[in-house]
Parts: sequence; C-alpha cells; structure tokens
Amino acid sequence: MTADNHRHSFAKTSSTYENGRSVISTPKQVLQGHPVGSRSNTTLCIGCGMVLHETNIMFAYPCRCADSVEWDVPRVYCYDCAPDKISSPTLGTTEVLVGGRLGTIAFPTPRNQQLCLTELATRALSPPVEGSAL
Ligand SMILES: [Zn+2]
Repeated sequence: MTADNHRHSFAKTSSTYENGRSVISTPKQVLQGHPVGSRSNTTLCIGCGMVLHETNIMFAYPCRCADSVEWDVPRVYCYDCAPDKISSPTLGTTEVLVGGRLGTIAFPTPRNQQLCLTELATRALSPPVEGSAL
C-alpha cells in the first residue's frame, strides 16, 4: 500500500472528539508529542532492553481501541529491533507503527516532563476493521 492509501483508510476510521465535535486527522498529527514510557528521561526498547534517550531514533507501536479516544503506546523499539509491519493486527483496534525521534514534553501543572514522540513517519497501519479478534 502507498502512503496515500494509509492516510485514506485512517481518515475514514479515526477521529478525535472534543466538545462533541470530531476532527479527522492522520496518525502522524495525532501522535506528534504523545508521551511514551513512565520515566521522565529514558525508556526501554521492548526488543533488546536498550535504554533510549531524548533525540534517539525510535520506533513506536501506538494503538487505539475503537471505543476509546485515547491512544496508548505500549511498545517502543530501538532502530535495530523495529518490526517493518504489524504482524498480528487486532480487530477493533487502530494500530500504527511509526518511526521518529524521542523528544521531551513538559507538563506545566504537575511540573514534570516525559519523553514523547517527535519527527514521526508512518511505517505501517492497521485499521480497526483489519485483524482477528482476541
Ligand atoms: Zn532494541
């Protein structure tokens, strides 16, 4: 599939909700700046355990259930461990494989910061209608 096909299938199935209005967006736009990991300055490659820091190249596997407006980023990979496709897509879940660099996002009220996804490019996408049920 081409990048245009990815965008098209994503646009049909994804929207974010704010004040009851929906906005169509691409995974790249939605996930830019999305926090990853639980620590403020490092995260681990799920493949080899390598410690990843801000500015490191990383690949991430964000997903979103059809009934949720929140994205989750359960897996982060280093450059060497990144898969080139979504090997077992889950029905009812939008899954994306993106590559980019780790950045830092600061949260003013709790006065903390967390690593986030930046400079993203989409490598693979599985819309909710693809895959098998768990
Ligand atoms: Zn790795």
